[in-house]
Amino acid sequence: MDGQDKTVKANILSILFIHVKFLFIGLKVFSFYPVNFVRRYSPVDFGSCAHRMIIMESYDVIIIGAGPAGTATALFLNDMGLDVVTLDQAKFPRDKVCGEFISPAADPILDDLGVLDSIEALSPCRLKGVAISAYETNEVFIDYPPAPGSSRRMTSLSLKRLAFDQLMVDRVRQCGVEVREEHKVTDFIFDGGSIVGVKGLDENKTSFSLASKVVVAAGGRNCISLRRLALLKRRKGGGKIALAAHWQGNNLPQDYCRMHVSKPGYTGMAAVAADVVNIVLVVNQEELRGKDLHEYYLSAVLKNRLRREILADARVTERVRSVDSLSYSAAQVPCGGLLLVGDAMGFIDPFTGEGIYLSLRSAQLAAGVIGEAFQGAGFSRQHLRVYEERRAREFSKKFMLSKILQRLIYNPPLCKFVTRRLAENPQLAETLVGVIGDYLPAEKVVSLKFMMRLAAGFPAGSGYRQMSAGPTRIAPGE
Ligand SMILES: Cc1cc2nc3c(=O)[nH]c(=O)nc-3n(C[C@H](O)[C@H](O)[C@H](O)COP(=O)(O)OP(=O)(O)OC[C@H]3O[C@@H](n4cnc5c(N)ncnc54)[C@H](O)[C@@H]3O)c2cc1C
Repeated sequence: MDGQDKTVKANILSILFIHVKFLFIGLKVFSFYPVNFVRRYSPVDFGSCAHRMIIMESYDVIIIGAGPAGTATALFLNDMGLDVVTLDQAKFPRDKVCGEFISPAADPILDDLGVLDSIEALSPCRLKGVAISAYETNEVFIDYPPAPGSSRRMTSLSLKRLAFDQLMVDRVRQCGVEVREEHKVTDFIFDGGSIVGVKGLDENKTSFSLASKVVVAAGGRNCISLRRLALLKRRKGGGKIALAAHWQGNNLPQDYCRMHVSKPGYTGMAAVAADVVNIVLVVNQEELRGKDLHEYYLSAVLKNRLRREILADARVTERVRSVDSLSYSAAQVPCGGLLLVGDAMGFIDPFTGEGIYLSLRSAQLAAGVIGEAFQGAGFSRQHLRVYEERRAREFSKKFMLSKILQRLIYNPPLCKFVTRRLAENPQLAETLVGVIGDYLPAEKVVSLKFMMRLAAGFPAGSGYRQMSAGPTRIAPGE
């Protein structure tokens, strides 16, 4: 190629470049194309990259995961007028192993998100409280107390995750937020010390890249942030597995969540529809070595006297599903541009059944901090850390309580003693379920005063005694 050819080629390239540049300016100024097209396909300035300007589809916020945490975050951010996309590797409706009851404290958040009426329209169960049995003692029925400032007793929603999660995704779409199903995020895009987008594979296994100011990792217990940023910390005693299945039949309990702690593990049983209960069994993983999951589940569930009675006219309606390594936590995020919500932040144990509430509430807190970031606080690690601090301030005592309960339930004499004390002292019992239900402050239980009142009488008659025959009821106002 001689010098003249080179000049011609350079001119053609520069004219092309100018045209592309003007096309973008034109798109922005005259809005020939839908605004979203212009906004989404804009040059993204990766300041420190070798190729500074890359034309990439871009959003204000990318959310990984369309479970409760991701969908709630999407709805809160959409309300703030931010441009959000939610990516999920699954095709909905997708199922999930879960106790399927939702802490009473979630009601106002679900209402704020505009989904409570649609949930009620599905005729979910409303549980009045919790019934506890410790190592085959009779059940102690504890009603949820009223919330502070109210005289109305609280209840907890209970419905199939298949329906709840689908409803949340539908709501996100109704609000105009894009949800891309079967879009698996495989990596983050980094620029300097911050995350500025994600890469992944779509439903056709074609790779995609998206840019954003901030990424919210709401991918649950297997979230990419836990692995890619090496944040995953396994907790001691994490070698547990949960087995779950729905049962159908007559005379199934509809009004309380039944928590039975006994050998080989504990079960949570909650009605999720008329004549349908969900039973989750949590045991040590070693228990299952070499055994058939389904057969093991059936025999362990029916090993307990109370459950045999309750399930006398019921049958399991599906193959058991499982999830292992229940307990883990996430280290602090080391870079800007990323927040973790829901299970992506960690999980203690399903005993207190509060993961959905925590997901919704952490979404609310994260959205607040993201809102501040867009108003000028920025997306640096320094600012986004505020979210982790607010979350820790709100939940640290509750997490402490969950850990205390974990120790308690695996100590049969202590577990029986505490259950008996709760039966004897309705006020203590209701305070505890109010805290577990996330609407009374955890300080009410994680306190010397509560512990001393609970411990009164210990060790005399420390739970070795079988409780009196017939269920012990703690009725409202008793
Ligand atoms: C045995 C058990 C029982 C439980 N019982 C209860 C209960 O009774 N009540 C309660 O409130 N909580 C309960 N929980 C906790 C509750 O299930 C979780 O806390 C809740 O589901 C967390 O929601 P999430 O949105 O963070 O994650 P998830 O619901 O797990 O949603 C994460 C989503 O992210 C998607 N995803 C993951 N990785 C990627 C990726 N790389 N790219 C794109 N998408 C991705 C997944 O497909 C999924 O849809 C229980 C948990 C267990 C294990």
